[in-house]
Amino acid sequence: MNPSNREAEIKRKRLEGPGLIKPYEVKHGRKFRLDDCDPADTQGLDASQEADDLLKRDIERLSDIQQKLYAQDRWALLLIFQAMDAAGKDSVIRHVMSGVNPQGCQVFSFKAPSTEDLSHDFLWRTSKCLPQRGHIGIFNRSYYEEVLVVRVHRQLLASERMPKELVTKKIWKQRLDDINAFEAYLGHEGVVVRKFFLHVSKQEQKHRFLSRLDEADKNWKFSQADVKEREYWDDYARAYEDMIRHTSTPEAPWYVVPADHKWFTRLVVASAIIHTLEQLNLSFPRVDRDQKQELESARKLLFQEPK
Ligand code: ATP
Ligand code: MG
Repeated sequence: MNPSNREAEIKRKRLEGPGLIKPYEVKHGRKFRLDDCDPADTQGLDASQEADDLLKRDIERLSDIQQKLYAQDRWALLLIFQAMDAAGKDSVIRHVMSGVNPQGCQVFSFKAPSTEDLSHDFLWRTSKCLPQRGHIGIFNRSYYEEVLVVRVHRQLLASERMPKELVTKKIWKQRLDDINAFEAYLGHEGVVVRKFFLHVSKQEQKHRFLSRLDEADKNWKFSQADVKEREYWDDYARAYEDMIRHTSTPEAPWYVVPADHKWFTRLVVASAIIHTLEQLNLSFPRVDRDQKQELESARKLLFQEPK
């Protein structure tokens, strides 16, 4: 093989294999440091036709494997997306899931909680939206906001109306433990949980906010509040780091996905989902002998129909 072919081969392997997702997968978070993760990382690869083609192929693979998930009707997949504003949650979800059958997939976006939500425990509103067997559920933000925005803006806790004696400095650790217990429970029930933190840099966020101001078609996305929230960047970074440290488990790992280059983010997310589903060894249900006989009689009936 000549050197340039060899290089292309190495690159293709890197794009296709689990090697692409491994650097971003956190299964044990104890030593995790956000500073070690480069939001602009692309593993030395460029945005290219090849990367586009690969995403297209991934989307097709996902579509095939989702059919099996649905037909088998045993496992469920819960995908959680968390990020700072403008990291690209919406567009990743839109692109990566563009090929899946909407009948077996539902997206829920969790914004500021309603009065009804606030009258319940913090897992209540998301629990109602968990995917049923055979389905893929996507949470665009999630119960993790309870250890992120609520932690950064502690005054939000007051609107949750918890008994005063339960609001101590241990509350974040308790919530993180409760989330771990909840996700372990989901795992025991056949709901596979995968969590994506789309890691964008402060610089790139600024760039994206500016393009929301400059480009007429993006004006609608601009929010003054998002710019204000940038002032808390370091507090959020600390809260995210602590969250990843405490809630990364082999059963429900976090993927800290570089998000400064959207094409790369999509590729990593798509690969992680496919890899997860492939591990489940999904297959179409096989019919037994009695059912086969039924199929045969149905075939006969159809052929006996008058023309
Ligand atoms: P986009 O900006 O791309 O439309 P988004 O997810 O940022 O998507 P917004 O309506 O801008 O949607 O923001 C939702 C807001 O709701 C976020 O600021 C988030 O922190 C907040 N939020 C979500 N869950 C909670 C919660 N449990 N308590 C308080 N605030 C929450
Ligand atoms: Mg927003």
